[in-house]
Amino acid sequence: MPLHIHDTLRREKRLFTPRDASRVSLYVCGPTVYDYAHIGNARPPVVFDVLVRLLRRTYGADHVIYARNVTDVDDKINQKAAREGVPISEVTARYEAAYLADMALLNVSRPDIAPHVTDYIPAIVDQIQAIIDAGCAYAAEGHVLFDVSSYKNYGALSGRNLDDMIAGARVEVAPYKKNPHDFVLWKPSKADEPSWPSPWGEGRPGWHIECSAMIEQTLGLPIDIHGGGIDLVFPHHENEIAQGVCAHGHAHGDQAHDEYARYWMHNGFLTVDAEKMSKSIGNVLLLHDLVQAMPGEVVRWALLSAHYRQPLDWNQSLLDQSKKSLDRLYGALHRSSGIAALDLDPPADFLKSIEDDLNTPGAMASLFALSSEIERGMTAGDLDAVAQARGRLIACASILGVLQADPAAWLEGDVSDDLRVEVDSLLEQRAAARAAKDWPEADRIRDRLNELNVVVMDGPDGATWRMKG
Ligand code: AMP
Ligand code: ZN
Repeated sequence: MPLHIHDTLRREKRLFTPRDASRVSLYVCGPTVYDYAHIGNARPPVVFDVLVRLLRRTYGADHVIYARNVTDVDDKINQKAAREGVPISEVTARYEAAYLADMALLNVSRPDIAPHVTDYIPAIVDQIQAIIDAGCAYAAEGHVLFDVSSYKNYGALSGRNLDDMIAGARVEVAPYKKNPHDFVLWKPSKADEPSWPSPWGEGRPGWHIECSAMIEQTLGLPIDIHGGGIDLVFPHHENEIAQGVCAHGHAHGDQAHDEYARYWMHNGFLTVDAEKMSKSIGNVLLLHDLVQAMPGEVVRWALLSAHYRQPLDWNQSLLDQSKKSLDRLYGALHRSSGIAALDLDPPADFLKSIEDDLNTPGAMASLFALSSEIERGMTAGDLDAVAQARGRLIACASILGVLQADPAAWLEGDVSDDLRVEVDSLLEQRAAARAAKDWPEADRIRDRLNELNVVVMDGPDGATWRMKG
């Protein structure tokens, strides 16, 4: 089954057909780098990393172009820099580096392009000017505002009707706005805030315009797929479409949104122990801390264990289950490590799942079936079957971005150096005792390993071990 994607704009699953199969383009809204990312922020990059891996497999590695932006100017960044008394670039460089290091631990590949807002201010200014020239924005008191009433299809993505929105508006409306839902394209900066020159005075861009300007500059319009978390549907993506369409004078076209992005994908939200993550509850889990406490692949597996559009609850049993699943798969790879894997495609059932709007839980079931095939083949001594199943398992794992560690190292896990030294020495003594047929000594060593919670696995290249768990 070729790839089908649930398109938020059309509210249905659609066959994915790229505009140009030799250049499939994808943009995902990236982090605002003012602090460490929380675990919810890690869901979109991991989900879309799977999509990119799948697209590269389908269209060829060099025929997919993936951009994920970095928001490096923002009020929260300004506040943090002011509190620390440092330039914003110091704050943003620190948290971007941490973000990339933590993403690498999750096996998230770098995007092809990572545009930073501060590098695109002239393009942003040009796009704002084009929107004004098209009659869809106006300057007032140092601000430029998008006039939502000028764009015929405003609300199409989020399913909101502008008249209802206006009737329901209770927010205090800034005096310079014609309509309460007009949103900022450019705003003035105070003396201590970062600013750039513009035809409307010194200032900085609003949030939404950065993405539409950088998409146009880096990928060109229309892009094939635009992704992000479900919270971005409104207002961020609704406003992106309005800007991208109106900058080209198409405010009145019925299908003008197709000229911006052809498919919209949004991931569901992550909760922690069934609660919304929030500073006031004190349950915000930082990715940076999680990847110190457990292997990044456990975090990745847990994030992919629910379908991306569904909510995902982060809790201890999810993590235990994820670790166990990976241990089982690594166990099969380890047990069969002496047998060379064939270079094969993933099996049809795996592709059917993953191409069905990224059904990762279904895809994971195929991995377990393959690991069982490996175990059965090893027990039966059917080495051809093992070589095939290994090859298919490795092919599936490279699309999900898991099983990238050395199986022996994975199974040994995070044990202290002292324990590692003791176990290695016990295994040497055990080998010597066995060679000397000193069975009581071999039994004593086995009991000691048991006390240490160590499972020994005898293989063709000698014994390896892992912690019970
Ligand atoms: P932000 O840095 O807040 O702009 O968020 C970066 C990305 O993380 C966006 O795509 C958000 O939609 C997404 N995101 C934020 N919180 C969560 C959450 N709890 N669950 C899933 N995605 C989230
Ligand atoms: Zn964006």
